[in-house]
Amino acid sequence: MAVQGITILGATGSVGRSTLEVLSRHPERFEVIALTGYRNVELLARQCARHGARYGVIADEQAAGRFQEELARLGCSTEVLAGSDALEQVAALDANGVVMAAIVGAAGLRPALAAVQAGKRLLLANKEAMVIAGGLFRQATSDSGARIIPVDSEHNALFQLLPPDHAAALDRAGVLELVLTASGGPFLRRPAEELGAVTPEQACDHPTWDMGRKITVDSATLMNKGLEVIEAHWLFGAAASQIRVVVHPQSIVHSMVAYRDGSVLAHLGVPDMRTPIAHALAWPERIEAGVRRLNISDLSQLEFLEPDLRRFPCLGLAFTALQAGGSAPVTLNAANECAVEAFLDHRIRFTDIRRILERALERMPTAELESLAQILEHDAETRAVSRQLIEEHG
Ligand code: NAD
Ligand code: MG
Repeated sequence: MAVQGITILGATGSVGRSTLEVLSRHPERFEVIALTGYRNVELLARQCARHGARYGVIADEQAAGRFQEELARLGCSTEVLAGSDALEQVAALDANGVVMAAIVGAAGLRPALAAVQAGKRLLLANKEAMVIAGGLFRQATSDSGARIIPVDSEHNALFQLLPPDHAAALDRAGVLELVLTASGGPFLRRPAEELGAVTPEQACDHPTWDMGRKITVDSATLMNKGLEVIEAHWLFGAAASQIRVVVHPQSIVHSMVAYRDGSVLAHLGVPDMRTPIAHALAWPERIEAGVRRLNISDLSQLEFLEPDLRRFPCLGLAFTALQAGGSAPVTLNAANECAVEAFLDHRIRFTDIRRILERALERMPTAELESLAQILEHDAETRAVSRQLIEEHG
């Protein structure tokens, strides 16, 4: 078996750490080329030493000196690169066979796109990149022959449930509907009038998945599912009307596909990101992931509920943005990143998140965005508008 070179963008995060855990079980299959982090120099240095990375990239240039010292202290010869351009540089290295995109937010777009443009197999966890630049990813995969394997658990499940040639057309494959499951988050059963008072700590206490803080808040507002609807549109060529969301608090069924002949295929497993990560790493083979086997007797208690768009309006906003097209998903994502950060910093209330999103969508006219430069500019403008809206709220 040929050894595959791998770079992990966002190695210090939740998905990045789980990826390294799976890799540790298969040292004969993979060689770590580059690991990247933002500011957590101690962890990144330890990861580089433990996995023998050729390059370590610290995205925050201010932290480069400390990162170098930390590596020296560990006696590690990993070469240090710093700054956001270095992320793109390592994503496109010849030595990479696969690149894991596990940076959170729009910050991960440029390196993920660089990997696809360089023809790498991209394992995509960074859903925000696909939400804001799905058209560019499509173009780049067809130009370079790169392949994107989704890591987001629902999309990885859909990838497994759809026939191999689904990219041609869902309709030709006999698909009626893609069903994304949502855990419903920590506030699934909270009355609407209590949601204004929930704290970031309560929002970060997710019942079934252990994830980074931004995606955990997104799960609590259901914006995570909204972003996933847009992600599914770009990954699988599904129209908004072909994508349905159901709340499934146990997070055992990760997605379903309804076919024309009446068949509904479902993907099941315990909620553990190492499953989709291992699947994406080894595809089309299957490798051991360290995940406990699903106990079939746990299946007697599965529930499926309609999402409550009145209490969780962010999901509805995402469908609206997808239908509006153009810059609307970019606006939604940028405003959401700003609003979630403000909520985590105790500057706005949980229920203000949706208000910021609605106002940002009103203020930013929907335009066609064709290039990466236009997308990044629209993203930056929306952030400026959102910061203003947040101040008015604070
Ligand atoms: P996290 O916050 O735990 O980790 C984020 C990573 O991105 C870290 O390595 C951090 O250093 C890096 N990073 C943050 N800001 C950066 C910047 N400006 N420049 C460069 N690097 C930066 O997040 P996570 O939970 O691992 O999620 C990562 C992505 O995967 C997100 O897009 C999320 O939606 C998606 N995802 C996560 C899970 C999960 O279980 N955690 C599941 C599905 C999808
Ligand atoms: Mg998901």
